[in-house]
Amino acid sequence: MKLSELQSTLSSLGTTPTRSLGQNFLHDRNLADWITAQLQLAPGDRWLEIGPGLGALTEHAQKRSTNGILLEKDDRLIGFLGERYPGLEVVHGDACRFDTRNLLAGGPLVVFGNLPYYVSSQILFNFTANSVPAKLQLYTLQRELAERLAAQPGTKEFGGPTALIGRRWKVQLLRTLPPQVFLPVPTIDSSVVLLTPRAPGELPACDGGRFNMLVKLGFSQRRKQLGNLLGKALGSWPEAAAALGVPTTARAESLSISQWCQLAAWKPGTAPEDPAAAAQDIHGEIFDVVDAQDQVTGQATRHEVHGKNLRHRAIHILVRNKAGEVFLQRRSQWKDVCPLKWDSSAAGHVNAGQDYPETAARELREELGVEAPLKWVAKADAAENTGHEFVHLFEAAHEGPFHLPPAEVDCGEWFEPAQLERWLAARPEDFAPGFRRCWALWKQARG
Ligand code: SAM
Repeated sequence: MKLSELQSTLSSLGTTPTRSLGQNFLHDRNLADWITAQLQLAPGDRWLEIGPGLGALTEHAQKRSTNGILLEKDDRLIGFLGERYPGLEVVHGDACRFDTRNLLAGGPLVVFGNLPYYVSSQILFNFTANSVPAKLQLYTLQRELAERLAAQPGTKEFGGPTALIGRRWKVQLLRTLPPQVFLPVPTIDSSVVLLTPRAPGELPACDGGRFNMLVKLGFSQRRKQLGNLLGKALGSWPEAAAALGVPTTARAESLSISQWCQLAAWKPGTAPEDPAAAAQDIHGEIFDVVDAQDQVTGQATRHEVHGKNLRHRAIHILVRNKAGEVFLQRRSQWKDVCPLKWDSSAAGHVNAGQDYPETAARELREELGVEAPLKWVAKADAAENTGHEFVHLFEAAHEGPFHLPPAEVDCGEWFEPAQLERWLAARPEDFAPGFRRCWALWKQARG
């Protein structure tokens, strides 16, 4: 959009840019074209633009793919956007509060925007949450924030947000934009950053909740040494520092994101766990083998049970919170079955000599790190399409937070049942089949 066009659009709408909404409109068409070219959109690719404003980027993105969503907070622009881009979905909303879990039902997408500076961080945190199915994100940000996100350890720019966002996303600083390309002209430079999801295994595995807690604590007082800030949370800082190979005088910004991950996975007095090895360490597990009436007839290793299709037992647990949401886990990349699929809150096989309720209590402890009363919900018989498993389904009430072992669980998230229903209907392939079966059982049992 050229400057003259931008000005005439504003005057035809009888409006002026609003500072409190961070409205600095881009009027350099070449830049707009360059920014949208970085999105690598192919025809039909799904995208979402945050804060489209008068459509400076929208018109270029739409030429690449018409499968777009516009998320705009300014109610004065909603009618205009709907008329100008009738093929796109226009959502009137606040990107800081937008429920990104609703995006899962539509599958992978590209997210971008020239963000309003006053809420860039909140928007970034919302759109880099565990469950956002973005395959690429591109933002124009205040230069200072962009440099912080892409900062290297050991620099003053490296801060809490660098690590919190950088654990899951690789951040690349693409270019800086001068203030003059915007109307009104801001007092600061802007930079374009590209966020791509990190490949599984690129950084050491750890519990994301513990990582976030330690990073926030570590950066809460930058001048202090980590020993003073993290000693209590870690048990023994000197031991942790030695395991990481950093001096005990280290400060938060001197640790790389990889070292923060190692720290989150570290436990006093133990060698660092190799999640790949831990996940493989299951093949020798012994299960009870059962007959068609679910009576124990013998024992076999996990390997034999699965290899010879022997009937065996398993449990699933659905944990709900007071808001009625259900907690799902995404299985770790090292799982031999259904890696990185979404699954019940916790699930597992019944070990030889254990019963269903004992197993459910153990799995709740091992996979979510909590104890809670368990209520039996339903059962499913063993059949070919259930992997020859008798399954007992339990439910529990808990508010979290959970402690997720990285060898087992990649991450977890609460979902509203209706949201989950829409996602399941649209993309059953995102879920482990065992969960799909249990979800149907659960709905049936609840009428
Ligand atoms: N994309 C347009 C461009 O490049 O010219 C506008 C960019 S302007 C910097 C930021 C845009 O975000 C404005 O349209 C503003 O109304 C919108 N906005 C501000 N706060 C928002 C929020 N919380 N959620 C969604 N959009 C918001």
